[in-house]
Amino acid sequence: MLPYNRRREDATSKSSSEQFMIAIIGAGPAGLMAAQVLSDAGYAPTIFDAMPSAARKFLIAGRGGLNLTHSENFELFCSRYFEAQVFLQPALDNFSPNDMRLWAKSLGFETFVGSSGKVYPLDKKAAPLLRTWIHKLKANGTKFKMKHRLVGWSKDIWQFETPDGIKNYSFDAVILALGGASLPHLGSTGAWTKILGDKGLEISPLKPANMGFNVNWSEIFKEKFSGTPLKNVELSFRDINGNLQSKLGELLVSQNGVEGSLIYTHSKFIREQLEQKSPFTIYLDLFPHRTQSQLHEQLSGKQGKKSLSSFWKRLGLDGVKASLLREVLAKELLTEPELVTKTLKKFPLTLETFRPLEEAISTAGGLGFENLDEHLMLKDFPKVFCVGEMLDWEAPTGGYLLTGVMGQGKQAALGLLKLL
Ligand SMILES: Cc1cc2nc3c(=O)[nH]c(=O)nc-3n(C[C@H](O)[C@H](O)[C@H](O)COP(=O)(O)OP(=O)(O)OC[C@H]3O[C@@H](n4cnc5c(N)ncnc54)[C@H](O)[C@@H]3O)c2cc1C
Repeated sequence: MLPYNRRREDATSKSSSEQFMIAIIGAGPAGLMAAQVLSDAGYAPTIFDAMPSAARKFLIAGRGGLNLTHSENFELFCSRYFEAQVFLQPALDNFSPNDMRLWAKSLGFETFVGSSGKVYPLDKKAAPLLRTWIHKLKANGTKFKMKHRLVGWSKDIWQFETPDGIKNYSFDAVILALGGASLPHLGSTGAWTKILGDKGLEISPLKPANMGFNVNWSEIFKEKFSGTPLKNVELSFRDINGNLQSKLGELLVSQNGVEGSLIYTHSKFIREQLEQKSPFTIYLDLFPHRTQSQLHEQLSGKQGKKSLSSFWKRLGLDGVKASLLREVLAKELLTEPELVTKTLKKFPLTLETFRPLEEAISTAGGLGFENLDEHLMLKDFPKVFCVGEMLDWEAPTGGYLLTGVMGQGKQAALGLLKLL
Protein backbone atom coordinates (compact mmCIF):
# COMPACT_ATOMS: atom_id res chain seq x y z
CA MET A 1 0.00 0.00 0.00
CA LEU A 2 1.22 3.49 -0.81
CA PRO A 3 2.09 5.54 2.22
CA TYR A 4 -0.16 8.48 1.51
CA ASN A 5 0.76 11.89 2.85
CA ARG A 6 -2.21 12.90 4.95
CA ARG A 7 -1.13 16.48 5.48
CA ARG A 8 -1.29 19.38 3.15
CA GLU A 9 2.24 19.23 1.80
CA ASP A 10 2.82 22.94 1.48
CA ALA A 11 1.24 23.77 4.80
CA THR A 12 3.45 25.16 7.49
CA SER A 13 0.76 25.47 10.13
CA LYS A 14 -0.50 22.22 11.60
CA SER A 15 -4.12 22.93 12.35
CA SER A 16 -6.23 19.88 13.11
CA SER A 17 -8.16 20.37 9.87
CA GLU A 18 -5.10 19.36 7.86
CA GLN A 19 -4.65 16.01 9.50
CA PHE A 20 -7.32 14.18 7.56
CA MET A 21 -6.91 12.59 4.19
CA ILE A 22 -10.23 13.22 2.55
CA ALA A 23 -10.80 11.62 -0.82
CA ILE A 24 -13.51 12.64 -3.21
CA ILE A 25 -13.86 10.07 -5.95
CA GLY A 26 -15.50 11.56 -9.04
CA ALA A 27 -14.72 15.04 -10.35
CA GLY A 28 -18.18 15.89 -11.65
CA PRO A 29 -20.19 18.82 -10.29
CA ALA A 30 -21.27 16.83 -7.21
CA GLY A 31 -17.68 15.99 -6.25
CA LEU A 32 -16.37 19.46 -7.06
CA MET A 33 -19.03 21.09 -4.88
CA ALA A 34 -18.10 18.76 -1.99
CA ALA A 35 -14.46 19.78 -2.50
CA GLN A 36 -15.40 23.45 -2.47
CA VAL A 37 -17.21 23.19 0.87
CA LEU A 38 -14.34 21.22 2.43
CA SER A 39 -11.59 23.43 1.09
CA ASP A 40 -13.51 26.56 2.16
CA ALA A 41 -13.47 25.04 5.65
CA GLY A 42 -9.69 24.65 5.56
CA TYR A 43 -9.38 21.02 4.52
CA ALA A 44 -7.36 19.86 1.56
CA PRO A 45 -9.33 17.09 -0.10
CA THR A 46 -7.95 15.09 -2.99
CA ILE A 47 -10.23 14.45 -5.94
CA PHE A 48 -9.67 11.25 -7.89
CA ASP A 49 -11.17 10.73 -11.33
CA ALA A 50 -10.90 8.07 -14.00
CA MET A 51 -10.69 10.62 -16.82
CA PRO A 52 -7.74 12.81 -17.81
CA SER A 53 -9.78 15.96 -17.05
CA ALA A 54 -12.62 16.87 -14.70
CA ALA A 55 -16.36 17.24 -15.20
CA ARG A 56 -16.73 16.23 -18.82
CA LYS A 57 -20.50 15.87 -18.54
CA PHE A 58 -20.76 19.36 -17.06
CA LEU A 59 -18.79 20.61 -20.05
CA ILE A 60 -21.13 18.86 -22.49
CA ALA A 61 -24.06 20.50 -20.69
CA GLY A 62 -22.56 23.76 -21.92
CA ARG A 63 -23.50 22.80 -25.47
CA GLY A 64 -27.13 23.31 -24.55
CA GLY A 65 -26.32 26.63 -22.87
CA LEU A 66 -25.56 25.25 -19.37
CA ASN A 67 -28.95 25.43 -17.73
CA LEU A 68 -27.80 25.79 -14.13
CA THR A 69 -31.13 25.94 -12.39
CA HIS A 70 -34.71 27.19 -12.67
CA SER A 71 -36.39 30.35 -11.44
CA GLU A 72 -39.87 28.95 -10.70
CA ASN A 73 -41.09 29.11 -7.11
CA PHE A 74 -39.13 26.91 -4.74
CA GLU A 75 -42.02 24.61 -3.83
CA LEU A 76 -42.70 23.81 -7.47
CA PHE A 77 -38.97 23.47 -8.09
CA CYS A 78 -38.65 20.85 -5.33
CA SER A 79 -41.61 18.88 -6.69
CA ARG A 80 -39.65 18.20 -9.90
CA TYR A 81 -37.74 15.43 -8.15
CA PHE A 82 -40.81 13.17 -8.06
CA GLU A 83 -40.86 10.59 -5.22
CA ALA A 84 -37.23 11.35 -4.29
CA GLN A 85 -38.11 14.90 -3.24
CA VAL A 86 -38.34 13.81 0.37
CA PHE A 87 -34.73 12.60 0.29
CA LEU A 88 -33.44 15.53 -1.74
CA GLN A 89 -35.10 18.25 0.32
CA PRO A 90 -32.10 18.76 2.66
CA ALA A 91 -29.80 19.13 -0.36
CA LEU A 92 -32.15 21.65 -1.97
CA ASP A 93 -32.58 23.55 1.29
CA ASN A 94 -28.78 23.74 1.55
CA PHE A 95 -28.33 24.70 -2.06
CA SER A 96 -31.40 26.36 -3.53
CA PRO A 97 -31.71 27.75 -7.07
CA ASN A 98 -30.82 31.13 -5.61
CA ASP A 99 -27.69 29.65 -3.99
CA MET A 100 -26.75 28.26 -7.40
CA ARG A 101 -26.93 31.76 -8.88
CA LEU A 102 -24.90 33.18 -5.98
CA TRP A 103 -22.35 30.43 -6.42
CA ALA A 104 -21.90 31.26 -10.12
CA LYS A 105 -21.65 34.93 -9.19
CA SER A 106 -19.00 34.16 -6.59
CA LEU A 107 -16.89 32.76 -9.43
CA GLY A 108 -17.48 35.91 -11.46
CA PHE A 109 -20.31 34.61 -13.66
CA GLU A 110 -23.59 36.51 -13.66
CA THR A 111 -26.67 34.52 -14.58
CA PHE A 112 -29.93 35.38 -16.34
CA VAL A 113 -33.42 33.94 -16.49
CA GLY A 114 -34.45 32.83 -19.97
CA SER A 115 -37.99 33.15 -21.32
CA SER A 116 -38.87 29.66 -20.08
CA GLY A 117 -37.69 30.48 -16.55
CA LYS A 118 -34.48 28.47 -16.93
CA VAL A 119 -31.34 30.05 -15.52
CA TYR A 120 -28.07 30.24 -17.48
CA PRO A 121 -24.71 31.97 -17.12
CA LEU A 122 -24.67 35.14 -19.22
CA ASP A 123 -22.32 33.61 -21.81
CA LYS A 124 -24.20 30.26 -21.70
CA LYS A 125 -20.86 28.48 -21.62
CA ALA A 126 -19.58 25.78 -19.26
CA ALA A 127 -15.85 25.86 -20.01
CA PRO A 128 -14.95 29.30 -18.55
CA LEU A 129 -17.02 28.61 -15.43
CA LEU A 130 -15.45 25.19 -14.92
CA ARG A 131 -11.93 26.54 -15.50
CA THR A 132 -12.44 29.26 -12.91
CA TRP A 133 -14.00 26.83 -10.44
CA ILE A 134 -11.13 24.35 -10.69
CA HIS A 135 -8.57 27.14 -10.49
CA LYS A 136 -10.21 28.38 -7.28
CA LEU A 137 -10.36 24.88 -5.81
CA LYS A 138 -6.68 24.28 -6.51
CA ALA A 139 -5.74 27.65 -5.06
CA ASN A 140 -7.72 26.70 -1.96
CA GLY A 141 -5.81 23.45 -1.43
CA THR A 142 -7.84 20.83 -3.34
CA LYS A 143 -5.63 18.36 -5.20
CA PHE A 144 -6.57 16.48 -8.33
CA LYS A 145 -5.48 12.96 -9.20
CA MET A 146 -6.73 12.26 -12.69
CA LYS A 147 -6.55 8.94 -14.58
CA HIS A 148 -7.31 7.15 -11.32
CA ARG A 149 -10.20 4.77 -11.85
CA LEU A 150 -11.67 3.24 -8.71
CA VAL A 151 -11.77 -0.52 -9.28
CA GLY A 152 -12.10 -1.96 -5.80
CA TRP A 153 -12.80 -1.25 -2.16
CA SER A 154 -12.02 -3.69 0.59
CA LYS A 155 -12.05 -2.70 4.24
CA ASP A 156 -9.93 0.47 4.36
CA ILE A 157 -8.19 -0.08 1.05
CA TRP A 158 -9.35 1.78 -2.03
CA GLN A 159 -7.93 0.38 -5.21
CA PHE A 160 -7.36 2.47 -8.34
CA GLU A 161 -6.31 1.61 -11.85
CA THR A 162 -3.78 4.19 -13.02
CA PRO A 163 -1.42 4.56 -16.00
CA ASP A 164 1.29 3.24 -13.63
CA GLY A 165 -0.69 0.16 -12.68
CA ILE A 166 -2.93 -0.61 -9.73
CA LYS A 167 -2.47 1.63 -6.67
CA ASN A 168 -3.95 1.20 -3.22
CA TYR A 169 -4.81 4.06 -0.91
CA SER A 170 -6.38 4.42 2.48
CA PHE A 171 -8.31 7.50 3.56
CA ASP A 172 -9.86 8.95 6.67
CA ALA A 173 -13.06 9.81 4.83
CA VAL A 174 -14.38 9.31 1.33
CA ILE A 175 -17.07 11.03 -0.71
CA LEU A 176 -18.13 8.95 -3.70
CA ALA A 177 -19.51 11.05 -6.56
CA LEU A 178 -19.29 8.52 -9.37
CA GLY A 179 -22.22 9.65 -11.54
CA GLY A 180 -24.77 7.57 -13.45
CA ALA A 181 -24.08 5.63 -16.62
CA SER A 182 -25.34 7.75 -19.50
CA LEU A 183 -22.85 8.81 -22.20
CA PRO A 184 -20.18 6.54 -20.64
CA HIS A 185 -17.41 7.94 -22.87
CA LEU A 186 -17.56 11.05 -20.65
CA GLY A 187 -16.38 9.03 -17.63
CA SER A 188 -19.37 7.73 -15.68
CA THR A 189 -19.90 4.10 -16.57
CA GLY A 190 -21.91 2.81 -13.64
CA ALA A 191 -19.17 0.26 -12.88
CA TRP A 192 -19.45 1.34 -9.24
CA THR A 193 -22.70 -0.67 -8.98
CA LYS A 194 -20.59 -3.84 -8.79
CA ILE A 195 -18.20 -2.39 -6.18
CA LEU A 196 -21.03 -1.16 -3.92
CA GLY A 197 -23.37 -4.03 -4.77
CA ASP A 198 -20.74 -6.49 -3.51
CA LYS A 199 -20.94 -4.70 -0.16
CA GLY A 200 -24.59 -5.69 0.12
CA LEU A 201 -25.90 -2.19 -0.56
CA GLU A 202 -29.34 -1.76 -2.16
CA ILE A 203 -29.02 -0.54 -5.74
CA SER A 204 -31.92 -0.13 -8.17
CA PRO A 205 -31.10 -0.99 -11.78
CA LEU A 206 -29.76 2.00 -13.70
CA LYS A 207 -32.18 3.21 -16.37
CA PRO A 208 -32.24 6.00 -18.92
CA ALA A 209 -33.82 9.32 -17.93
CA ASN A 210 -34.32 12.31 -20.21
CA MET A 211 -33.96 10.11 -23.25
CA GLY A 212 -35.56 9.73 -26.65
CA PHE A 213 -38.16 7.18 -27.73
CA ASN A 214 -38.39 5.00 -30.82
CA VAL A 215 -41.14 5.57 -33.38
CA ASN A 216 -41.62 3.51 -36.53
CA TRP A 217 -41.39 6.43 -38.94
CA SER A 218 -41.71 5.65 -42.62
CA GLU A 219 -38.40 5.80 -44.48
CA ILE A 220 -39.51 8.85 -46.43
CA PHE A 221 -40.60 10.77 -43.31
CA LYS A 222 -37.40 9.89 -41.49
CA GLU A 223 -35.25 10.98 -44.39
CA LYS A 224 -37.05 14.30 -44.78
CA PHE A 225 -37.69 15.34 -41.19
CA SER A 226 -35.06 13.79 -38.96
CA GLY A 227 -33.62 16.73 -36.96
CA THR A 228 -36.72 18.90 -37.48
CA PRO A 229 -38.31 20.55 -34.45
CA LEU A 230 -42.03 20.16 -33.94
CA LYS A 231 -42.92 23.48 -32.35
CA ASN A 232 -45.99 24.56 -30.43
CA VAL A 233 -47.54 21.20 -29.74
CA GLU A 234 -49.33 19.93 -26.68
CA LEU A 235 -48.40 16.45 -25.56
CA SER A 236 -50.79 14.42 -23.41
CA PHE A 237 -51.21 10.90 -22.05
CA ARG A 238 -52.15 9.10 -18.85
CA ASP A 239 -49.35 7.91 -16.57
CA ILE A 240 -49.37 4.50 -14.87
CA ASN A 241 -51.44 5.95 -12.02
CA GLY A 242 -54.09 7.19 -14.45
CA ASN A 243 -53.14 10.85 -14.00
CA LEU A 244 -53.34 13.05 -17.07
CA GLN A 245 -49.92 14.39 -18.06
CA SER A 246 -50.12 17.28 -20.46
CA LYS A 247 -47.78 20.07 -21.51
CA LEU A 248 -47.19 22.56 -24.29
CA GLY A 249 -43.75 22.73 -25.83
CA GLU A 250 -41.42 21.61 -28.54
CA LEU A 251 -40.03 18.23 -29.46
CA LEU A 252 -37.57 17.06 -32.04
CA VAL A 253 -38.09 14.42 -34.72
CA SER A 254 -35.05 12.15 -34.69
CA GLN A 255 -33.80 9.36 -36.90
CA ASN A 256 -35.20 6.83 -34.43
CA GLY A 257 -38.26 8.63 -33.15
CA VAL A 258 -38.65 11.65 -30.92
CA GLU A 259 -36.58 13.52 -28.34
CA GLY A 260 -36.28 17.09 -26.99
CA SER A 261 -37.41 18.99 -23.93
CA LEU A 262 -41.12 18.19 -24.13
CA ILE A 263 -40.33 14.49 -24.35
CA TYR A 264 -37.64 14.58 -21.65
CA THR A 265 -40.00 16.28 -19.20
CA HIS A 266 -42.29 13.26 -19.45
CA SER A 267 -39.65 10.58 -19.96
CA LYS A 268 -40.10 9.06 -16.50
CA PHE A 269 -43.84 8.56 -16.96
CA ILE A 270 -43.54 7.27 -20.50
CA ARG A 271 -40.72 4.89 -19.51
CA GLU A 272 -42.88 3.53 -16.70
CA GLN A 273 -45.73 2.94 -19.15
CA LEU A 274 -43.43 1.19 -21.62
CA GLU A 275 -42.02 -0.98 -18.85
CA GLN A 276 -45.55 -2.24 -18.22
CA LYS A 277 -46.62 -2.58 -21.82
CA SER A 278 -45.14 -1.61 -25.15
CA PRO A 279 -45.82 0.06 -27.46
CA PHE A 280 -47.43 3.04 -25.77
CA THR A 281 -49.34 5.82 -27.51
CA ILE A 282 -49.11 9.47 -26.49
CA TYR A 283 -51.16 12.21 -28.14
CA LEU A 284 -50.12 15.48 -29.72
CA ASP A 285 -52.35 18.45 -30.29
CA LEU A 286 -50.62 19.86 -33.35
CA PHE A 287 -52.67 23.09 -33.22
CA PRO A 288 -53.17 23.78 -29.52
CA HIS A 289 -53.96 27.43 -30.13
CA ARG A 290 -56.94 26.70 -32.41
CA THR A 291 -60.12 25.05 -31.21
CA GLN A 292 -61.46 21.93 -32.86
CA SER A 293 -64.34 23.91 -34.40
CA GLN A 294 -62.06 26.69 -35.71
CA LEU A 295 -59.80 24.13 -37.31
CA HIS A 296 -62.74 22.19 -38.70
CA GLU A 297 -64.23 25.32 -40.21
CA GLN A 298 -60.92 26.24 -41.84
CA LEU A 299 -60.40 22.76 -43.23
CA SER A 300 -63.96 22.69 -44.56
CA GLY A 301 -63.33 25.86 -46.60
CA LYS A 302 -63.18 25.85 -50.36
CA GLN A 303 -60.04 24.27 -51.76
CA GLY A 304 -60.91 25.51 -55.26
CA LYS A 305 -58.37 24.66 -57.93
CA LYS A 306 -55.51 24.60 -55.46
CA SER A 307 -53.68 21.41 -54.65
CA LEU A 308 -54.41 19.99 -51.21
CA SER A 309 -50.89 20.93 -50.07
CA SER A 310 -51.32 24.58 -51.13
CA PHE A 311 -54.75 24.71 -49.50
CA TRP A 312 -53.33 23.33 -46.24
CA LYS A 313 -50.32 25.60 -46.43
CA ARG A 314 -52.60 28.65 -46.48
CA LEU A 315 -54.05 27.36 -43.19
CA GLY A 316 -50.59 26.93 -41.69
CA LEU A 317 -50.59 23.19 -42.13
CA ASP A 318 -47.39 22.26 -43.91
CA GLY A 319 -43.92 20.81 -43.40
CA VAL A 320 -43.54 18.27 -40.64
CA LYS A 321 -47.11 18.66 -39.34
CA ALA A 322 -48.65 17.99 -42.76
CA SER A 323 -46.36 15.02 -43.26
CA LEU A 324 -47.32 13.59 -39.89
CA LEU A 325 -50.90 13.46 -41.12
CA ARG A 326 -49.76 11.53 -44.16
CA GLU A 327 -47.99 9.10 -41.82
CA VAL A 328 -51.26 7.99 -40.26
CA LEU A 329 -54.04 8.74 -42.76
CA ALA A 330 -54.51 7.08 -46.13
CA LYS A 331 -54.49 9.48 -49.11
CA GLU A 332 -58.24 9.26 -49.69
CA LEU A 333 -58.94 10.28 -46.09
CA LEU A 334 -56.89 13.46 -46.23
CA THR A 335 -59.77 15.40 -47.77
CA GLU A 336 -62.17 14.59 -44.94
CA PRO A 337 -62.16 17.74 -42.77
CA GLU A 338 -63.67 16.09 -39.72
CA LEU A 339 -61.20 13.22 -39.59
CA VAL A 340 -58.26 15.51 -40.40
CA THR A 341 -59.33 17.93 -37.66
CA LYS A 342 -59.63 15.15 -35.11
CA THR A 343 -56.26 13.75 -36.09
CA LEU A 344 -54.56 17.15 -35.87
CA LYS A 345 -56.06 17.81 -32.44
CA LYS A 346 -55.27 14.33 -31.12
CA PHE A 347 -52.45 12.94 -33.17
CA PRO A 348 -51.57 9.41 -31.97
CA LEU A 349 -47.82 9.03 -31.63
CA THR A 350 -46.95 5.43 -30.92
CA LEU A 351 -43.72 4.95 -29.00
CA GLU A 352 -42.19 1.52 -29.37
CA THR A 353 -39.39 1.56 -26.78
CA PHE A 354 -37.07 4.02 -25.06
CA ARG A 355 -33.57 4.73 -26.25
CA PRO A 356 -30.74 3.04 -24.31
CA LEU A 357 -29.08 4.44 -21.19
CA GLU A 358 -25.81 5.07 -23.04
CA GLU A 359 -27.60 7.73 -25.14
CA ALA A 360 -29.61 9.33 -22.35
CA ILE A 361 -28.96 12.71 -20.77
CA SER A 362 -29.18 11.32 -17.25
CA THR A 363 -29.68 8.18 -15.21
CA ALA A 364 -32.58 6.94 -13.12
CA GLY A 365 -32.10 4.22 -10.51
CA GLY A 366 -28.92 3.88 -8.47
CA LEU A 367 -27.91 3.60 -4.85
CA GLY A 368 -31.03 3.69 -2.68
CA PHE A 369 -31.42 6.43 -0.06
CA GLU A 370 -32.24 3.75 2.51
CA ASN A 371 -28.48 2.97 2.57
CA LEU A 372 -27.71 6.53 3.66
CA ASP A 373 -28.13 8.67 6.75
CA GLU A 374 -29.24 12.32 6.79
CA HIS A 375 -25.75 13.43 5.69
CA LEU A 376 -25.71 10.99 2.75
CA MET A 377 -23.21 8.82 4.64
CA LEU A 378 -23.47 5.05 4.21
CA LYS A 379 -25.11 3.70 7.36
CA ASP A 380 -22.98 0.55 7.24
CA PHE A 381 -19.71 2.31 6.36
CA PRO A 382 -19.02 5.37 8.50
CA LYS A 383 -17.19 8.24 6.81
CA VAL A 384 -18.10 7.01 3.33
CA PHE A 385 -20.59 9.34 1.65
CA CYS A 386 -22.37 9.01 -1.70
CA VAL A 387 -23.68 11.93 -3.75
CA GLY A 388 -24.95 12.97 -7.16
CA GLU A 389 -26.39 11.09 -10.06
CA MET A 390 -25.24 7.75 -8.65
CA LEU A 391 -28.10 7.95 -6.13
CA ASP A 392 -31.60 6.68 -6.90
CA TRP A 393 -33.45 9.78 -8.10
CA GLU A 394 -34.26 11.51 -11.34
CA ALA A 395 -35.50 14.86 -12.53
CA PRO A 396 -36.30 16.40 -15.89
CA THR A 397 -33.92 18.72 -17.70
CA GLY A 398 -34.36 22.35 -16.73
CA GLY A 399 -31.47 22.86 -14.32
CA TYR A 400 -32.84 20.39 -11.77
CA LEU A 401 -30.03 17.90 -12.30
CA LEU A 402 -27.12 20.24 -11.65
CA THR A 403 -28.87 21.89 -8.70
CA GLY A 404 -29.64 18.44 -7.25
CA VAL A 405 -26.15 16.98 -7.61
CA MET A 406 -24.34 20.09 -6.35
CA GLY A 407 -26.74 20.34 -3.41
CA GLN A 408 -25.94 16.77 -2.46
CA GLY A 409 -22.21 17.44 -2.75
CA LYS A 410 -22.65 20.31 -0.33
CA GLN A 411 -24.87 18.29 2.02
CA ALA A 412 -22.34 15.44 2.30
CA ALA A 413 -19.41 17.81 2.79
CA LEU A 414 -21.27 19.64 5.56
CA GLY A 415 -22.06 16.27 7.14
CA LEU A 416 -18.42 15.26 6.98
CA LEU A 417 -17.36 18.58 8.51
CA LYS A 418 -19.68 17.88 11.44
CA LEU A 419 -18.01 14.50 11.98
CA LEU A 420 -14.51 15.95 11.71
C1 LIG B 1 -25.75 16.32 -23.01
C2 LIG B 1 -26.05 16.67 -21.56
C3 LIG B 1 -26.53 17.91 -21.26
C4 LIG B 1 -26.86 18.23 -19.94
N1 LIG B 1 -27.32 19.48 -19.66
C5 LIG B 1 -27.67 19.79 -18.40
C6 LIG B 1 -28.14 21.08 -18.08
O1 LIG B 1 -28.15 21.98 -18.93
N2 LIG B 1 -28.56 21.32 -16.81
C7 LIG B 1 -28.51 20.35 -15.84
O2 LIG B 1 -28.94 20.62 -14.72
N3 LIG B 1 -28.00 19.14 -16.10
C8 LIG B 1 -27.58 18.84 -17.35
N4 LIG B 1 -27.07 17.61 -17.61
C9 LIG B 1 -26.92 16.64 -16.51
C10 LIG B 1 -25.70 16.92 -15.63
O3 LIG B 1 -24.57 17.17 -16.43
C11 LIG B 1 -25.45 15.71 -14.72
O4 LIG B 1 -26.63 15.44 -13.99
C12 LIG B 1 -24.30 15.95 -13.77
O5 LIG B 1 -23.09 16.13 -14.47
C13 LIG B 1 -24.14 14.77 -12.80
O6 LIG B 1 -23.14 15.14 -11.89
P1 LIG B 1 -22.35 14.05 -11.01
O7 LIG B 1 -21.21 14.80 -10.41
O8 LIG B 1 -23.29 13.32 -10.15
O9 LIG B 1 -21.83 12.97 -12.07
P2 LIG B 1 -20.87 13.18 -13.33
O10 LIG B 1 -20.94 14.52 -13.87
O11 LIG B 1 -21.18 12.04 -14.22
O12 LIG B 1 -19.41 12.99 -12.72
C14 LIG B 1 -18.99 11.77 -12.19
C15 LIG B 1 -17.47 11.70 -12.31
O13 LIG B 1 -17.05 10.46 -11.74
C16 LIG B 1 -16.03 9.90 -12.54
N5 LIG B 1 -16.03 8.45 -12.34
C17 LIG B 1 -17.01 7.58 -12.61
N6 LIG B 1 -16.64 6.33 -12.26
C18 LIG B 1 -15.39 6.44 -11.74
C19 LIG B 1 -14.49 5.50 -11.18
N7 LIG B 1 -14.75 4.19 -11.07
N8 LIG B 1 -13.29 5.94 -10.73
C20 LIG B 1 -12.97 7.28 -10.79
N9 LIG B 1 -13.81 8.19 -11.33
C21 LIG B 1 -14.99 7.79 -11.78
C22 LIG B 1 -16.40 10.31 -13.95
O14 LIG B 1 -15.27 10.29 -14.80
C23 LIG B 1 -16.97 11.71 -13.73
O15 LIG B 1 -15.99 12.70 -13.88
C24 LIG B 1 -26.69 17.28 -18.91
C25 LIG B 1 -26.17 16.02 -19.23
C26 LIG B 1 -25.85 15.72 -20.53
C27 LIG B 1 -25.28 14.36 -20.84
